[in-house]
Amino acid sequence: MADRFETGDKTGGRYTIGVDLGGTKVATALTDIHGRILQRAEVPTGAQEGAGAVISRIVDSIRAVMNTVVDGRKVSSEEVLGIGIGSPGPLDVKKGIVLYSPNLKWENIPICDPIAAAFGLPTYLDNDASVAAMAESRFGAGKGVPNMIYMTVSTGIGGGMIINGRLYRGSHGNAGEIGHMTIKPDGPRCGCGNFGCLEALASGTAIAREAAEGIRAGVATTLREKTNGDPARVTARLVGEALREGDSFAREVIHQAGNYLGIGLANLVNIFDPEMIVIGGGVSRIGEELFEPARKTMRERALAAVVKDVKIVPALLGGDSGVLGAAGLVLDQISHK
Ligand SMILES: [Zn+2]
Repeated sequence: MADRFETGDKTGGRYTIGVDLGGTKVATALTDIHGRILQRAEVPTGAQEGAGAVISRIVDSIRAVMNTVVDGRKVSSEEVLGIGIGSPGPLDVKKGIVLYSPNLKWENIPICDPIAAAFGLPTYLDNDASVAAMAESRFGAGKGVPNMIYMTVSTGIGGGMIINGRLYRGSHGNAGEIGHMTIKPDGPRCGCGNFGCLEALASGTAIAREAAEGIRAGVATTLREKTNGDPARVTARLVGEALREGDSFAREVIHQAGNYLGIGLANLVNIFDPEMIVIGGGVSRIGEELFEPARKTMRERALAAVVKDVKIVPALLGGDSGVLGAAGLVLDQISHK
């Protein structure tokens, strides 16, 4: 691997390629070393066609972004430092294998080797939440902050820890499963099988479940009309919308999720002593109505000396965090080789 980096460096590698592999689409970007996106490609994942077809579409999309003209000439593969891939996990990041993905219906799929072979470039893999953490740390809200934690709150909850400027991966590359810390031992069942995980209490799925239970129990809420009387149709997005329109039950549901989030944040603060926690993901767009109770609970529960200067801030990169973080995987390897 080290030889390949040196080849890239000697010939003046100036670009990286980031691939964001999702359940429905693959986004690919050519970036410069400062995280500026120079070209993008987006193709449907088409997971139902099998792993071979998905990988060949990824190869095609990488080729497409590499055919970009920058400064009046085409980018050559010698100028590309490497390829980074963010994928749903669990993964074996060292071997470049997707161990299992319910979304893609993949099991033990080597993804890095065929892509590295197609371009003769070093290729790195990490899970989508770690990749987003890398993006916010290098190019987003956490730029220049050595110790930060990224948390994504969407249908699930995940994250990544940046310690002394580097992504902490743990012994198997699976560190950062923030969503599965137990918050309430007798709480609701989590997708992982455990009870009362943060994800089962504060994710978009949990918010929708709580709202649906309230509608079924007959509480006064505009969510009943918004879902045409079918509680199963309630989503976190609808709860956020009802809250903005002044629905007090919706506010209660979001504040409760915020409180649980705050307990999770307090645990993270006590363990890691970070300068900043960056929160992204679709549910975080609810904004201060979620963040405020989360901050309040965090400050009440974390050790005063540790929590006093911690900043809780929204993520900056939105949908680009996948491709930028994947590009960041390459830069991370080079700057720490
Ligand atoms: Zn869990």
